[in-house]
Amino acid sequence: MVKKIGILALQGNFQKHKLILDQLGVESTYVRYSSSLDDLNGLIIPGGESTTMSKLLDRSGLFESIVSFADKNPILGTCAGLIMMANNAMDDRVNTFKLLDIDIERNASGRQIDSSIETLTVNYNNVQKNINVTFIRAPKIIRHGNEVNILAYHKGIPCAVKSGKHIGLSFHPELNGISIFHEIVFNKLINNREGLHAA
Ligand code: GLN
Repeated sequence: MVKKIGILALQGNFQKHKLILDQLGVESTYVRYSSSLDDLNGLIIPGGESTTMSKLLDRSGLFESIVSFADKNPILGTCAGLIMMANNAMDDRVNTFKLLDIDIERNASGRQIDSSIETLTVNYNNVQKNINVTFIRAPKIIRHGNEVNILAYHKGIPCAVKSGKHIGLSFHPELNGISIFHEIVFNKLINNREGLHAA
């Protein structure tokens, strides 16, 4: 069976994730309906606007489908995607999937104009790697549970977290061509990529 990853494409910045998966040689497809999840092995929830995304997820019936999909398959969420995966987004307009035991303050890094490219150090399996990534109206992780694994910090605050098979990021790695998180979260779905966990 061919392994295939879905990219939620209701709203927001989904195209650049497809380019990253193309580069990794992984098949992918855009997800707009519950039925699209049937033959998939993983899902990306991209950046965008979490209040709008939440409304569209409820309306399309995708919300419930993604909750059960996430039971068995890995999810990568970036920025608004991280907000959607949180336990609590501290905003009644955002109905979250509760896949990561974290609480979020939305838009904590200011407005669009305050966007920036930052250098982070990723720590995974005792390997460290420096990367440049983009923060755009980024959410801030204001609490995390004990079982949440911190992969990177920005200014002392966790900004890349892993819990079980899922990963959430408060920034956009795809805008800088960074694939390390896609590789870690979808490791089991990517063929012939030995040593990925040491990437
Ligand atoms: N500020 C957006 C929100 O709250 C997230 C921004 C982004 O995804 N780049 O949903």
